[in-house]
Amino acid sequence: MTSFAEKMARPEILELTPYSSGYDDAALENGIRLNANENPWRVGGDGFGDFNRYPPSQPEKLIARLSEIYGVGANNVLVSRGADEAIDLLVRAFCRPNQDAIAIAPPTFGSYATAARLQCARIIEAPLTSDYTFDTKAFVVAVKAEKDLKIAFICSPMSPTGGAISKDELASMCEQLSEIIVAIDEAYIEFSALESMADKLSKLENLVILRTLSKAYGLAGARCGAVLASPDIIAVLQKTIAPYPMTTTSIDIAMRALSPVNKLIVDRNIRKVVEERERVAKALNGSHFVARILPSETNFLFIETNDAPLLKKRLDESAIRVRWLKSRQGDAIRLTIGAPDENDLALAAFGVASERGRSRIGECFRETKETNISVAIDLESADPTAINTGIGYFDHMLEQVARHGGFSLLLTCDGDLEVDTHHTIEDCMLAFGAALRDALGDGRGMARFGAALPMDEARAEVLVDLSGRPFSKFSGDFHAPLLGEYPTEMTSHAFRSLSEALRASIHVSVDGGNDHHKTESCFKALGRALRQATRIESNIIPSTKGVL
Ligand code: PMP
Repeated sequence: MTSFAEKMARPEILELTPYSSGYDDAALENGIRLNANENPWRVGGDGFGDFNRYPPSQPEKLIARLSEIYGVGANNVLVSRGADEAIDLLVRAFCRPNQDAIAIAPPTFGSYATAARLQCARIIEAPLTSDYTFDTKAFVVAVKAEKDLKIAFICSPMSPTGGAISKDELASMCEQLSEIIVAIDEAYIEFSALESMADKLSKLENLVILRTLSKAYGLAGARCGAVLASPDIIAVLQKTIAPYPMTTTSIDIAMRALSPVNKLIVDRNIRKVVEERERVAKALNGSHFVARILPSETNFLFIETNDAPLLKKRLDESAIRVRWLKSRQGDAIRLTIGAPDENDLALAAFGVASERGRSRIGECFRETKETNISVAIDLESADPTAINTGIGYFDHMLEQVARHGGFSLLLTCDGDLEVDTHHTIEDCMLAFGAALRDALGDGRGMARFGAALPMDEARAEVLVDLSGRPFSKFSGDFHAPLLGEYPTEMTSHAFRSLSEALRASIHVSVDGGNDHHKTESCFKALGRALRQATRIESNIIPSTKGVL
């Protein structure tokens, strides 16, 4: 029986025997590769990487990870060189030149029309309403009126306008347009409250979803996107795709960014974009250059402007690049949400003040053969805190530091716990110290010194000087060798590692009866001491040297 995908595809594509690279994963891992005319020698040493080998065309590990993240089967995923390549593949595989058409709802992302023009496919337009909402009824009518229309490209959340189309509406449209492919571009969905259409794939054979790592994962330079679709559609696209769409480097970078260790950081980055989007939109509403800002579920704002020539001049003077567009009302811009400092400069060009408080954010990404760690600290916010090192007791201790330190701490470690807990504890403290040091910046205004605190019968004193000079002294001993999987001998080591990476003097003395209490009081006291020492209390560098 002919499948929907086969009915839709260009006959030449169905007949095509795709280029065979002679590559397969088993050959790389288990066999001697004399099948791909590769050079056995590299031009660099061990650290150079296996660039003399072709990468897999559809890397199994990457497909497996994407299918896990997107909640679909591995046979529903095709990896592409960005969503841009996926758009081009769809048009090339399904639209016969000089005959078939695609449908779009302008204003929309430009690549759909570009891909169609390259393929000599016609473009049917069913524009958004005057209020920039998607009119499903009108769209369906326009598509149904057209013979040989193969693909409808719908972006949701929408670019450049930023709004979203509800999942129910999209699903109903897929049903009404069951005779064509409906490609839903979810490039910006991570920034929105929308749910992906991915769980509808098994029911809707004409549904294709486009995803990208360029936006939420911050990998625009790595060029990695994905098509999610029925296995039949994936098979047709696989015939059309280049032999090696992604480079060895891109595959490696994508795998690292998608690693569970980075999940907390990716989520935090998305949250920061969304918070900044709301802050910037609110501030811009006070600008006389702004006629209207459309509600956005993306990482940009669509702004209809007043007095565009003067605004353009002001933005140019500050070297702020924005995308100018023609809106229904006149000149509009699409403003990407940047880092807080960048957004403040944009706000200044719009003539509005930023109401942002001080920002003290620090990060550390530490990757060795023993541990892989991501840490993010925000000294100006008491939450969120999420810690996962694989050592329950140690997680609890780091939570104490963050809670009593009064700052947000996200820390994930994938460590060699099969060896023992040593590397994980040591490296986490080094990474924590480095992130804290990063957050402190030049230390202007901070109290610099801190001390603290008892717990039941136990008493720990932690004295901290964020001096820029590492020194560590630990007095106290423990009788129990382990607390859970946490070795008590690691406590003094943990403080030493922290003092090295934070470049701080840390003196700890602890005594008492119960080792759990004693250890916990050391970490709680550290949190308290850091709370005092990192507190902003002036506007000067706290040293007569003028630097820390
Ligand atoms: N879809 C939309 C709506 C986009 O805005 C973009 C990029 N600007 C893409 C797809 C392409 O993304 P990629 O970087 O993955 O090619």
